[in-house]
Amino acid sequence: MTIYDKIGKTLQQLGISDAQGVESLFAELRKAAEQERAELVSRGAPNQPQRERLCKALRDRWLARKGGFLSQVDENWLKPSSRDLKPAVGRQFNELRRFAAGLEFEKLVEALPLQQEPSQQEELPLGSVAARPAPRDLTLPGLRRPLGSIHPVTRMQREIEDIFLRLGFWIESGPEIESTYYNFDALNIPETHPSRDDWDTLYIDSKTVLRTHTSPVQIRAMEKYGAPLYIIIPGKCYRHDNPDSTHSPMFHQIEGLAIDKDITFADLKGTLDFFAKMLFGEKVRTRFQPSFFPFTEPSGEVAVSCFVCDGQGCRVCKESGWIELMGCGMVHPQVLRNGGIDPDKYCGWAFGLGVDRFAMVKHDIHDIQLFFQGDVRFLEQF
Ligand SMILES: [Zn+2]
Repeated sequence: MTIYDKIGKTLQQLGISDAQGVESLFAELRKAAEQERAELVSRGAPNQPQRERLCKALRDRWLARKGGFLSQVDENWLKPSSRDLKPAVGRQFNELRRFAAGLEFEKLVEALPLQQEPSQQEELPLGSVAARPAPRDLTLPGLRRPLGSIHPVTRMQREIEDIFLRLGFWIESGPEIESTYYNFDALNIPETHPSRDDWDTLYIDSKTVLRTHTSPVQIRAMEKYGAPLYIIIPGKCYRHDNPDSTHSPMFHQIEGLAIDKDITFADLKGTLDFFAKMLFGEKVRTRFQPSFFPFTEPSGEVAVSCFVCDGQGCRVCKESGWIELMGCGMVHPQVLRNGGIDPDKYCGWAFGLGVDRFAMVKHDIHDIQLFFQGDVRFLEQF
């Protein structure tokens, strides 16, 4: 008796009276399902309509609600089974359903190869034009491939870029492997500064690092274009950090730089306030607090009132009502000089922000690692 005959009978009729018998019966059925699928895949289909028809037939044969093999097993094996046997049959039936789902009959259309037609690019010997195969039917529907989407960090970066592009900034980029001169010295970061330590920076050799911020591009752009200059610099940066929920050895920054005559801190505040309102909504307020960076003077930290609770305190702002956004300041005169710009004629401001952190705040994500693990179940949500 084939397994297909057995599906039509009850366990009693088959003389199965213990869990072991049930188990081997179901094993036989799973094997049959697997074989049928493998057989179809190895045969392939001559064309797209046939492929769809064959796949649907196989799916229906096993999974159709009326008369599919799984329904029959439910009707003939599970429902009439004796009280003693029912738990074992139920377990096996659930496993069979999981197994059938794992065979992905629904997606089989994509897996099923179309039988090779002779390629049209194939070089035919001279004089064989008459033997040329009939042209492909271009009206047949094509192969559907799943579409990806934009990564949440990239999307965040583009949103930020768009705001500054509207303000007349342009996008500049630079190398990720950078000299210590551009990464540190030209930015007024002295030899003795702790950030130059081996434990903070990834060195390639004593004069070359993986850039620790996007700021070296400020100097490169000043050298290249001179003043006035309005740029934003998105890109990857690297630090000697162990990965945890808020740190990653690779992360994304966006740097902004404006250099012109008569630029003041008021321009900086106005621009960043506008930026925060564009990104988080008209209602948010910005807060500037004094800080220190070697390449700006004076320097500040910018926070925005929490866009979730409006400053009342909630989980997103850790009950403080404020969300730290970025560091900023007026470009240090020595940095302008290092970039070949006369600080007596020009001045400017700069800021730097973490794109990953922005995306985390915006989407209420608590682990930065999720961005870089490539788990489709996570990425599909964006
Ligand atoms: Zn809040």
